[in-house]
Amino acid sequence: MQRVSVKTSASKGIAFGEVYMVKRNQPEASRRLIEEKEKPDETDRFVSAMEEASLEVGKLADRNAIFAAHREMLEDPALKESVLLKITAENKNAEWALAETEDEFGRLFAEIDDEYLKERAADIRDVCSRIMDRMKGTTGNLFEKIDREVIVVAEDLLPSDTALMDFSKVRGLVTRLGGQTSHVCIIARNKGIPAIVGLGDGMPAFQPGDFVILDGLDNQIIINPEKKIARKYRNKAFLYFQKRTSILKEAGLPVTTTDGKKILVMGNAGSVDEVEKTMQYGADGIGLFRSEQLFMQSKGGFPNEEPQFAEYRKALEACKGKSIIIRTLDIGGDKSLPYYLEEKEENPFLGWRGIRFCLDRKDVFKTQLRALLRASAFGNLKIMFPMIISVEEFREAKSLLENSKEELRSENIDFNENIETGVMIETPAAVMIAEDLAREADFFSIGTNDLIQYTLAVDRLNEKVSQLYNPFHPAILRSIKKVADTATKHGKPVGICGEMAGNQQTVIFLLGTGLSSLSISAGGIPEIKQMISSFSYKGSQELAAEVCRKSTADQVSTSLTKNDKRK
Ligand code: PEP
Ligand code: MG
Repeated sequence: MQRVSVKTSASKGIAFGEVYMVKRNQPEASRRLIEEKEKPDETDRFVSAMEEASLEVGKLADRNAIFAAHREMLEDPALKESVLLKITAENKNAEWALAETEDEFGRLFAEIDDEYLKERAADIRDVCSRIMDRMKGTTGNLFEKIDREVIVVAEDLLPSDTALMDFSKVRGLVTRLGGQTSHVCIIARNKGIPAIVGLGDGMPAFQPGDFVILDGLDNQIIINPEKKIARKYRNKAFLYFQKRTSILKEAGLPVTTTDGKKILVMGNAGSVDEVEKTMQYGADGIGLFRSEQLFMQSKGGFPNEEPQFAEYRKALEACKGKSIIIRTLDIGGDKSLPYYLEEKEENPFLGWRGIRFCLDRKDVFKTQLRALLRASAFGNLKIMFPMIISVEEFREAKSLLENSKEELRSENIDFNENIETGVMIETPAAVMIAEDLAREADFFSIGTNDLIQYTLAVDRLNEKVSQLYNPFHPAILRSIKKVADTATKHGKPVGICGEMAGNQQTVIFLLGTGLSSLSISAGGIPEIKQMISSFSYKGSQELAAEVCRKSTADQVSTSLTKNDKRK
């Protein structure tokens, strides 16, 4: 047994597991001087690798803040210019030029006397190693072999590594390099797994197969513990788990701004398991339950009323009285059902999806509506319809709901007579007729994932245009403001459930538009609640007004990043 005491841990908790050593196996970048005639080829190799890296990162950026930061770095001309200059003026081959640029930029960040900016050095390494991988053609998932509970041990972990880890198996992290505020540590804290980083020369000599206890509470690493010690730590871990559970309960307390405005921070989920997890993270309810997950998992055909009813009822019960908004089947676009193969569409996102499908396949829709109504007797359920572009669609959907109510009444089956129905605002058409929709709907939920693609005419899955998929575009921010104003005028609650709701850069703006709720994925809830509680509503309103006057996405971004003064 070996016990190593360390100064501090980056993420608290106690974890047990087998060591999983990460070997990056990246051969040193070859360094050679090149001739004049080789320069165009070397330049091309670097530029194409950089473009490929940008495309990869662009695809991930709107869903994950790490990659959004990487996208910014890749868009910064300074990085590209530095490499090109080294190729053309210093006669260095592309790998050498990139490695040197990485060192220089990394050093610049590392020397800054600011913990946050210091950590951007890791992002530079991550971005450059992605470009390097593209040049060498050596990509691969270093974490795919993890098949049991492990403690990941590495020289360093890059921010993007966390996107590849299966956190149901990765129980803790240990690294030689890296600092407390790195993205990896932020993710570890979000996931609630212990991390001890930046051990330097104090890194123990782990061997593959070692069993390790990571004590991020008292900053200890215990390698191959004796049985008695292991038992002691299991006990300690259990006590910690109990304590943490009660802290998470506190995260479930309502959140208000510094000047007293109450905001609901709800969660997005697609299954009963996810609802349970989301509620543990302190969600004030479920703002978006994507019912299509149930349809996609169904074997052999559309699920019948009974299994749907059972699933919705369980989801409601998991909310323990808090509200849950279940979205009716939103199939089509990129979501297809294995048992329902229709002809391929030329433009699936502009085709037979969401409410359009449901209004055409009334048999499928009514089965779902009956199941939802029946479930409504068991909790606080609201229904919303996706992809609405007209008042007629909403009326037709509601009329089918009324038919289903009528049927249930005649069958003496209980349901909530006053169940609320809402519209997802996901299309520019819905934004423009928000006033008319607000007269008929009980609530709105803005689905920015689609609203962005339809407003900016940018396919959310097409890599070639991913740079244009920009939540900071003034058209998006003004659309949100318009919808929020309209709903407020009509006294109707309005929330947002697209990925933008969990984006720390936009959350204060969203707050200032007058939205009454945000719905985000589980892990981000405690942090977003904390952010909201440290801002004033008045300040956020000023920010929203200022941002809506900006004419470019860059100006918007600058305003949003300088919003600290409004606290
Ligand atoms: C949205 O479009 O913002 C949304 C929440 O729906 P989905 O991502 O499921 O299309
Ligand atoms: Mg959508």
